[in-house]
Amino acid sequence: MIYVSAHGSNEVRRKFTESITWWFIDKLLPRYKNLNISIDITKIDDAQGTCVYDGDTFHIEIDSTLKGEIFIECLLHELVHVEQHLKDLYEINDDHEHIPYVDRLFEQDAYTRSELLCQEYINKEWIAYAKRSIKIRNLVA
Ligand SMILES: [Zn+2]
Repeated sequence: MIYVSAHGSNEVRRKFTESITWWFIDKLLPRYKNLNISIDITKIDDAQGTCVYDGDTFHIEIDSTLKGEIFIECLLHELVHVEQHLKDLYEINDDHEHIPYVDRLFEQDAYTRSELLCQEYINKEWIAYAKRSIKIRNLVA
């Protein structure tokens, strides 16, 4: 089974977070049948987002102060890390503590692709989605 659950913030933002996550799964992880993704929208001090895999569940944290496009892009960045873990891309599953953050290939990949994915999401999905909800529109304004 695939489980996606967002926690924290308010219901509108949780639904929005879950719908972006499902969009990502449908697009990039369609063949995975067992996936557990939990997203906490919470106050983070030293990063915009984090992604930790405990062997069962991917735990993503997104800073609750992020708004609009930056929020979407940050969530997509962390979801790219989920994909990298699952497909073992860019040596993300190897020890990388000795590599400076900006030199990590999986980070470069995540930044590049989250920007493109964010534009695609906004152009293709967002406009239709936002039309249906004034609350959502206000959230990203
Ligand atoms: Zn990252």
